[in-house]
Amino acid sequence: MSVRVRIAPSPTGFLHVGTARTALFNWLFARHNQGTFILRIEDTDVARSSEGMVEGILESLKWLGLNLDEGPYFQSQRLGLYPKEAEKLLEKGRVYHCYCTPEELSKRKEEVVRKGIPWKYDRRCLSLTKEEREGLEERGTPKALRFMVPEGKTSYEDGVHGRIERENVEIEDFILLRSDERPTYNFACVVDDAEMRITHVIRGDDHISNTFKQILLYKALEIKPPEFLHLPLILGEDRSKLSKRHGAISVTDYRDQGYLPDAFCNFLVLLGWSPGEEKEFLTREELIEIFSFERVRDSSAIFDVKKLDWMNGQYINQLEDEALLEAVLPYLKKAGLVDEGLLSTKRQWLLQVLNLLKERAKRLTDFVGLGEYFFIDEVKYDLKAVKKHFGENGVGKRLQALRDTLAELEDFSLSSVETALRGLADQLGVSASKLIHPIRVALTGQQVGPSLFELVDLMGKERTITRLTHAIRFIEKESSPPK
Ligand code: GLU
Repeated sequence: MSVRVRIAPSPTGFLHVGTARTALFNWLFARHNQGTFILRIEDTDVARSSEGMVEGILESLKWLGLNLDEGPYFQSQRLGLYPKEAEKLLEKGRVYHCYCTPEELSKRKEEVVRKGIPWKYDRRCLSLTKEEREGLEERGTPKALRFMVPEGKTSYEDGVHGRIERENVEIEDFILLRSDERPTYNFACVVDDAEMRITHVIRGDDHISNTFKQILLYKALEIKPPEFLHLPLILGEDRSKLSKRHGAISVTDYRDQGYLPDAFCNFLVLLGWSPGEEKEFLTREELIEIFSFERVRDSSAIFDVKKLDWMNGQYINQLEDEALLEAVLPYLKKAGLVDEGLLSTKRQWLLQVLNLLKERAKRLTDFVGLGEYFFIDEVKYDLKAVKKHFGENGVGKRLQALRDTLAELEDFSLSSVETALRGLADQLGVSASKLIHPIRVALTGQQVGPSLFELVDLMGKERTITRLTHAIRFIEKESSPPK
């Protein structure tokens, strides 16, 4: 039997991180077993669903690199299927029509709840007499179709949690078809999973209670249920369920914030699963190779943004120059720092700049702030940097001497600049840092940054001299007494 798995999101216009994790686990399971990964859009609940609303889902799956083998299928395009299956249950006497209006139901619920009793459908329509029923039908009263939950217990073997059992009295006679014949989630899910020959249902823990209803439906329809595996919930750092409150929750938000898809998937897979060794960095191929459900944890997982940033930084660091350029380019373009002209005339330089900056970047967006000074004409000085390194006695003079020394250099290579700077420091009787710190501020406006000599090398002679001159003037102006 070949593995067939699916994800079944509702078309909310975006892919939630939780659903992305579910998708990744399904995809890895399918790839590990040479199975089939399917996308089904559960859109029967959505008042006006359109294909446009799945674009965000498709875009996110593509970004994550989770390719589909089948789908997207839309439940809204399969609406004929559900009443047919309901008919079978009607013939078997496993369902009944319910004529209660939402108003009646909420009134009765209120009364029950007021007495401190938990509400469950009171089976009023199950005890209607033949005449009452005929009367309701004659008046054309809208009716839903409810499943008659049998007595006893329902249990199943969860692939993550082991055997789970529930008393059927805890389950109400749930609706299968609404009055307009549209199916509810549990019914459509079972009909579709069966029709699509799904072998393993892999989804979040929040669906465990639905699983009992679904198993009851499989039994009533006399269909063998698939295996069920429920993944632990993803929690925010405050241990509450991950939600908008915790910041970004849609996959495209993470893309826009500058995470690499491989890093993001590597981080996601560790939310609820462990490779069983210390190793945390795993390529896609390695994941496909070793992924199994034995190592899925049954306790909740915390979405730790700091860890995600750290992992992403490691992934960025390992990118080859060309791959890094491709990844960072959209962000640099968006910030207006790089255009096609620069790209075609100074590609090599750009590759070197990114290589120099990558060590400090956690997100792709960081390159904008870390390297802006390479791309703009006038450096923006950071106030703290100015105070600390331009405020020292004699700094203007030192920078002048440095500028003059560098201006005379014919060979402006990294090593020659370094020798010249260190030689000048000796000559002035100061430590090299008394030159290194202020020239860094002059060139970048910042206190910290990449190795100074590599920086000067990439900045080039002309810009280095111009920026030093600018800094010298700035220092003079700042230190001269107000007139
Ligand atoms: N539409 C459901 C959801 O988005 C699908 C659950 C399932 O996988 O059965 O949570």
